[in-house]
Amino acid sequence: MVKITLDRITKKFGNFTALDNITLEIEDKEFMALLGPSGSGKSTLLYTIAGIYKPTTGRIYFDGRDVTEVPPKDRNVGLVFQNWALYPHMKVFKNIAFPLELKKAPREEIEKKVKEVAKMLHIDHLLDRYPWQLSGGQQQRVAIARALVKEPDVLLLDEPLSNLDALLRLEVRAELKRLQKELGITAVYVTHDQAEALAMADRIAIIREGKILQVGEPDEVYYKPMYKFVAGFLGSPPMNFVEAEVEGEMLRIYQSRIPVPRQYREIIKKLDITEVLFGFRPHDAEIVRGEREGIRGEVYSFEPLGREQIVTVAVDSDVFVKVFAPEGEHFRFGEKVTIVPNEDRIILFDKKTEKALE
Ligand code: ATP
Repeated sequence: MVKITLDRITKKFGNFTALDNITLEIEDKEFMALLGPSGSGKSTLLYTIAGIYKPTTGRIYFDGRDVTEVPPKDRNVGLVFQNWALYPHMKVFKNIAFPLELKKAPREEIEKKVKEVAKMLHIDHLLDRYPWQLSGGQQQRVAIARALVKEPDVLLLDEPLSNLDALLRLEVRAELKRLQKELGITAVYVTHDQAEALAMADRIAIIREGKILQVGEPDEVYYKPMYKFVAGFLGSPPMNFVEAEVEGEMLRIYQSRIPVPRQYREIIKKLDITEVLFGFRPHDAEIVRGEREGIRGEVYSFEPLGREQIVTVAVDSDVFVKVFAPEGEHFRFGEKVTIVPNEDRIILFDKKTEKALE
């Protein structure tokens, strides 16, 4: 299929820089998620790959071939949008067949390909219906089928599931991932939903203000974030950050003192840094009753979630952290507790630059 190379892409709209010197390689058959908050430039990047936008500077290559000047229709990309506008006056069959009819493909070929792709997406029993006779999830499958029917080299998806309800989103997302691997198609998937990116992608590029902050496999960006922004964007609830002061071999965190995590002892000495942000994920800490070695605080609230609960602990008057606790533990409001983070999973950030220490 196709490997996509983005070489120092900048896109300006007037004076505004929507993409700022983006360099990224998307491997053949890879599922790459572009993840970032609203307005970070994800869609702009996707449309630049599609050829709908031309970069202000920089080049785009498909398998080493410069396609920067190639119009969208000649790039052989399939596009799926959030608002998957189907043609309302056409039945499902015709909606899916449309791109092939534009290409003036022979009747039998159209027939065969539409049926094939409809079967793959489990909508082969719906070919004779109009879009208004379909559920949201079915309509979205038709839109995906329409993008796939012309056998594109690259599948570009812009928040394709965000109009579906939560349950359906989970279902279509699993299917989309399976399909992408089955077809061996290179996919770029825009989302602001971190769970979706973690669940679906081979690699995730985290974008903020037109720049890529980090690219990596889900595990890597989750457990080894290079920036506080990345750490705070992934995971639900997100990573906790508390200010900490270095005091020799110890860290002072409000009223508590805990040893500098072993993986940071040398780094802290070398950098000679005193103010850090102490980061740990809600799942990577234990909460114990009473005052122990750890981060002390008082239970502020708790939210049962079925098998576990989220406990919010005040470590200072307006400083809160969240940790998971097993379902059977009953806490009282205001109860004194200690949070004991898993040392290996602690991440320290420079307070000023918000970059992970290394
Ligand atoms: P969202 O998730 O909200 O769609 P996004 O990360 O996809 O956000 P983009 O749509 O790529 O963000 O937009 C990035 C920035 O570029 C925004 O500030 C947006 O206002 C601006 N922008 C996008 N398209 C244009 C345009 N055609 N003209 C001017 N500014 C634009």
